[in-house]
Amino acid sequence: MDILRGIAVSPGVAVGEAVILDAEDYRIPYRSVSAEEVDAELERLASAIAASLTELEAQAHWLEEQLGRDAANVFQWHIGVLKDDRLRGGIEALIREQRFSAASAASTVMRNYQRRFLQMSDPLLVERIRDVQDIERRLLRHILGESREDLAHLTKPVILIAHDLTPTQTAQLAGTKVVGVALDVGASTSHTAILLRSWGRPAVIGLNDVSTRISGGDGVIIDGSNQLVVANPTPATLKDYRAQEERYLRLTGQLESIKRLEAVTADGVRIQLLSNIEFPQEAASGMEQGAEGVGLYRTEFLFLRPEGAPGEEEQQAAYAQAIRGVRGGPITIRTFDLGADKYTQQRRFEQERNPMLGLRSIRYSLQNLDMFKVQLRAFLRASLEGDVRLMFPLIISLMEFRQAKLTLHDAMEDLEEEGVPFRRDFPVGMMLETPAAAVQVQEFCREVGFISIGTNDLIQYLLAVDRGNERVSRFYDASHPAVLRTIRDVIRTCQQAGVPCSLCGEMAGQPLYTLFLLGVGLRTFSMAPANIPGVKKLIRAVTTGYARRVAKRALSFETERQVTNYLRDEIKKVLPEDPI
Ligand code: PEP
Ligand code: MG
Repeated sequence: MDILRGIAVSPGVAVGEAVILDAEDYRIPYRSVSAEEVDAELERLASAIAASLTELEAQAHWLEEQLGRDAANVFQWHIGVLKDDRLRGGIEALIREQRFSAASAASTVMRNYQRRFLQMSDPLLVERIRDVQDIERRLLRHILGESREDLAHLTKPVILIAHDLTPTQTAQLAGTKVVGVALDVGASTSHTAILLRSWGRPAVIGLNDVSTRISGGDGVIIDGSNQLVVANPTPATLKDYRAQEERYLRLTGQLESIKRLEAVTADGVRIQLLSNIEFPQEAASGMEQGAEGVGLYRTEFLFLRPEGAPGEEEQQAAYAQAIRGVRGGPITIRTFDLGADKYTQQRRFEQERNPMLGLRSIRYSLQNLDMFKVQLRAFLRASLEGDVRLMFPLIISLMEFRQAKLTLHDAMEDLEEEGVPFRRDFPVGMMLETPAAAVQVQEFCREVGFISIGTNDLIQYLLAVDRGNERVSRFYDASHPAVLRTIRDVIRTCQQAGVPCSLCGEMAGQPLYTLFLLGVGLRTFSMAPANIPGVKKLIRAVTTGYARRVAKRALSFETERQVTNYLRDEIKKVLPEDPI
């Protein structure tokens, strides 16, 4: 049994067989073959090794001519590994004696090989692991050829293990038989994590080397509530976890009854709970969870698909679908927030030295005005469908907000000239996601229709911690006193100015912060639909006076640890049964 600790994404327990997805999308299922198929599998292995060697020899030859012997040596090492009789013998033995398919035998043996390198103390040898991964990938490409299977065709529940998933891959998990996910990389507010959360199944990320420590076919438990992954569990552990899984499902079942109740505090203050969505059809599913509308529609996900950016008609159809999905409720559509960890297919090779501080969000839109205008036209054409608001991401200065609004007015004028009808009276607001915007919130309040606090980015820029980097994720902490004070100040200033203020970062959906946020005066929360029932339960259990006292005390601490411990203790007092 092997226990790995990572970063929590979504709670709950999932049990299943591992399927490894490597960087090139190969799913390596554990598959056994019949006695009659063994020879064909051995043949398939032999041709794959031969094809890999031919390729490698050509590459080594070319490199030697271009760059000399040293460069070619890397591939000579690969050739040596593939010619190693013990390695080949090990793969063949699994096929012959245990009837593994060629792909699962090769994957299992290569992963054991990687594990051996991982345990070496010499850092140079540990580096070799990348070479072994490269050899494995090449071999599997030849074994699987065109017959590679994709996740949509799984026939039984599995746990997906990968080094990383792109947001696009993550978005495709819905509707597959994947019941849990474990990743080597990632941090809790990376976009992959956000999508995993809206997918709703247990997931643990930032595990460093889970994809090399687990092989396809291994039994795996994902304990999303305690951020653990257990590989090859003992029967006793498995029994324990099955019981936990049942308990978790019972508790989430109890939340069902809350979905239809009002979000109102024990002293009668109405709170607005909205959903964060990435795809238009989720607007309707957010309503099923008890949302009153959409507080954040991340439209950039329309642009991340392999086939490239959608045209005006297609965008208009998507926005109209989302607007109709909220059945008359409010919906805030954010203009595309591209860059940082969300690159379009066309831009994916344009490496930036520091993408989180790079050409992202509104900066990217204002440098690509044609693309921006197409989106604004599509939004305007869909705007007559309902109660819409438009929001610009990552605004750092008034000049930027004004320029974005001017572009919107340009798009309005064009439509007017063309005689196309659209709505004019919708609020235009901004996301407050940087320290600069927080410091200047008073000035912004004079010009914006509303403010939505994006804590995912605000925390990363306040604390100088990349939100997607698992190596620094322990420093990324919403409980940091600087974060709490900034949020309090922004909400207070907005209230004084009479500007509507909501919060749509992940913090809004974390029950740990519900009392604090209520206590500093937040009345509109926007979160992943799955988090709505749990947050509502807490809201209904407390008075605003109590929340104010909790917030005041939380603001008095000097360190993030004290804040977290205190908030956890307070919630335990209110809802002693619930896991936090
Ligand atoms: C945020 O930064 O808090 C936010 C909601 O936007 P995103 O997570 O899409 O960057
Ligand atoms: Mg953001």
